[in-house]
Amino acid sequence: MSEAVNHLTKSKQQYSFNKLQKRLRRCVGKAIADFNMIEDGDKVMVCLSGGKDSYTLLDILMFLKNIAPINFDIVAVNLDQKQPGFPEHVLPQYLNKIGVEYLIVNEDTYSIVKEKIPEGKTTCSLCSRLRRGILYRTAQELGATKIALGHHRDDMLETLLLNMFHGGRMKSMPPKLVSDDGKNIVIRPLAYACEKDIAKYAEKMEFPIIPCNLCGSQENLQRKMIKNMLQDWSKQYPGRIENMFRALQNVTPSHLADPNLYNFVDISTTGEIPEEGDIAFDTPEFSDSEIESANSEVETIELS
Ligand code: SF4
Repeated sequence: MSEAVNHLTKSKQQYSFNKLQKRLRRCVGKAIADFNMIEDGDKVMVCLSGGKDSYTLLDILMFLKNIAPINFDIVAVNLDQKQPGFPEHVLPQYLNKIGVEYLIVNEDTYSIVKEKIPEGKTTCSLCSRLRRGILYRTAQELGATKIALGHHRDDMLETLLLNMFHGGRMKSMPPKLVSDDGKNIVIRPLAYACEKDIAKYAEKMEFPIIPCNLCGSQENLQRKMIKNMLQDWSKQYPGRIENMFRALQNVTPSHLADPNLYNFVDISTTGEIPEEGDIAFDTPEFSDSEIESANSEVETIELS
């Protein structure tokens, strides 16, 4: 390859990386603003597992900290669960290099999980419950006001479908919530970011990824199935995933069936056209005046 072609390829790659970086930063900035995730004076504890998502989250939050009009602190926390083969040096080395305050918490949850869960059964649910408890406690000890997790848009959609398919519940992972113990605010600044972008970014940034199968647990098969299904949809019907995510932010309780969200029992006619009327799948192809004129034509036909 000639030097000129080489140079052109490199600048093309740089251009597309810059675009990707901008897109991710914009997504995170927007999610933070839309949900008021980070406020002036906050201490944000960023949970770092060593996977692509949490590295990306930390990287972008550190960038935003430097340019944000508000002051907030960041402390990265990794929980070393004592899985066999966990490369203890990787995260401290990286965190020292980027110059962020950090804490490695050592808790042997691996042994507890192995002891409590029979061989061959999935260990993830107990493991993550233990991990959550330790992280909440650590946030208190550090005086952190927010706990930032690396879940992204695709995690949220997968969780929504998992809950619908297997739990009979319409429930996802919210971008911001009060933790189960009522003491912490959990935020998910990657809520608007898609996994594909994050994976590309992590690769380009050469984050020192720690594999997540060290515990030997089987990957959650149901989640995997749903992930594949969403990926297939995304290929076959471009835009579907984006629409599904938009739906999460655009809920019409009067057109679902949860009496706790909408008082179906007491509805009555008011003579007014309801704002969220029953237009079901009608597409807004006609303007109000076109519909009015069509209606009057119908009336004329009926009268004649
Ligand atoms: S994959 Fe292993 S470390 Fe991760 S949640 Fe499951 S049991 Fe825990």
